[in-house]
Amino acid sequence: MRKRLLCILLAALLCALTGCKKTPEPVEFSTFAMDTLMSVTVYGKGEKETQRVQDRLATKIRRLDSLLSVINEDSDVNRINQAGGAPVEVEDHTAQLLAAALELCEATNGALDITAYPAVKAWGFTGEKYRVPSPVELEELAGKIDYTAVELGLESHSVPAGPDGEPDWTDPVKRDTVTLPAGMELDLGAVAKGYTGDQLAELARGNGISSALLNLGQSTIVAVGSKPNGSPWRVGVRDPAGEGYFAVVELEDMAMGTSGGYQRFFEEDGITYWHILDPETAAPARSGLSSVTVVAPSALTCDGLSTALFVMGLERGAQFWRDHPELEFEAILVTEDGEIYCTAGLTDRFSLAEGYKDREVTVLE
Ligand code: ADP
Ligand code: MG
Repeated sequence: MRKRLLCILLAALLCALTGCKKTPEPVEFSTFAMDTLMSVTVYGKGEKETQRVQDRLATKIRRLDSLLSVINEDSDVNRINQAGGAPVEVEDHTAQLLAAALELCEATNGALDITAYPAVKAWGFTGEKYRVPSPVELEELAGKIDYTAVELGLESHSVPAGPDGEPDWTDPVKRDTVTLPAGMELDLGAVAKGYTGDQLAELARGNGISSALLNLGQSTIVAVGSKPNGSPWRVGVRDPAGEGYFAVVELEDMAMGTSGGYQRFFEEDGITYWHILDPETAAPARSGLSSVTVVAPSALTCDGLSTALFVMGLERGAQFWRDHPELEFEAILVTEDGEIYCTAGLTDRFSLAEGYKDREVTVLE
């Protein structure tokens, strides 16, 4: 009898220590959106419930893709680009993203500029009909890049949210408007995945998920909570000069975004041209960096700033980090010579990967 009691007590103790919980099974899905393959892993309470959350996440991805993709004819972005200078009514998501992106354009003094689309098209980075524009053409294109010309008419309204978290537009309300001078065009390619990552994370958390990894095409990753066992998610940082990962970053309720010349590029006459452009010249940014990774609570900040710091280069980028603590970001910068720099606030979450342990890392203070 005493033995049985002891067994029960022991089992109860074990239960209390481990929480008596089974490790939840992940539900995963992948989908092609925003010109990339996105994959989402969610750990939930039960398979049915987790599947329901997955469906909501998938719906949200499709929704944002249809609003923000410049390739989609009916997207808000495309309607703005085609409006010939007239004001265009847009959805809440578009207005919210534009407002936040314009703030980043301003903070980065135009290193990030969401009006680079005419130049992006001229280089053939949409449609993959690559070509090198002439110096005269580039000068003309650079003249069309100016985020300060975007006029955002935000209406003070509150739209009730439907069950999927999307605004319920059944009551007619005045919508926000965007006005862009004729001849200019928006491209949210540098920020849309980040915004989507934040929206998905919020939706997952709002549905009771405390463990998920949202991978929006490798370059933007959002960690919701930690792994089911409580340890942080470990995410690899791509070696811009190779196929593997040179570093691992530990993420817990945190996002990470990487921009690099290796992600989309073409070669002509022995010169490599990549898809991140310097708004000053309308040509690929040659700042001496080959990749920038930004870690921050907001995926939009990660996405926008990784592009901007790539344009700025090491010195300006490091100074930008020192000057903007309010943006709450840390960064890993890799030069074309393979030197690795890491900002001081990230060192305890950063480690070199197997095969890269002998590389030197300079800590930026
Ligand atoms: P990826 O989309 O490959 O993750 P980025 O987030 O760095 O990479 O975004 C690059 C995309 O943003 C380009 O493909 C182009 O459409 C657009 N773009 C290029 N240069 C700039 C820039 N300086 N500012 C804003 N958008 C840019
Ligand atoms: Mg970006």
